[in-house]
Amino acid sequence: MTWTTFKNLIFRSGGTNDDRGYRHSCIFCRIATGEEFPGHSDNDLLHNDDKLVAFKDIKPAATRHYLVIPKMHVASVRTLNRSKEDHAMICEMLKLGKELLHRDAPGAETRFGFHVPPFNSVDHIHLHCFALPFSPAWKESKYRQYPFLPFATFMSEEEVLKRTQPDVGQDAKASQQGGKL
Ligand SMILES: [Zn+2]
Ligand SMILES: [Zn+2]
Repeated sequence: MTWTTFKNLIFRSGGTNDDRGYRHSCIFCRIATGEEFPGHSDNDLLHNDDKLVAFKDIKPAATRHYLVIPKMHVASVRTLNRSKEDHAMICEMLKLGKELLHRDAPGAETRFGFHVPPFNSVDHIHLHCFALPFSPAWKESKYRQYPFLPFATFMSEEEVLKRTQPDVGQDAKASQQGGKL
């Protein structure tokens, strides 16, 4: 593989399509509509409301390992916008993940984050929520940021919140224009 091909793979591939409509080919869209279950039945859903669904990761890497997804098909962190809507969506996903872990593993140390394409398993954005420890311990390597790499494989919730945070100037201008960003 040439460096250019590799770079294209890392920086452009997977989940860069902006279309947020339902797609039948996406397993998380089908879970969101109830056509498919994350386990054996809808009892396997940890949460289901008009915007978000949560369920256990099928290959748990920690004491608790949950996924929170929006019902809307958002391909990945790469297709998020710096906007009130996307920032609010990430905040709600995180809030739900924290609540579920707090309920099921009170007092445990937690970790949250998102895979960056092409290191994501499914092209529908999902927040990984962990109650630690990782088990087996080496699995942690799949769910952490490596600052020395020239590209991100995994992004912490803080990083994604920062990247979606609408900037104050733009926000003020938008509210003058009737609230639309
Ligand atoms: Zn989807
Ligand atoms: Zn993932």
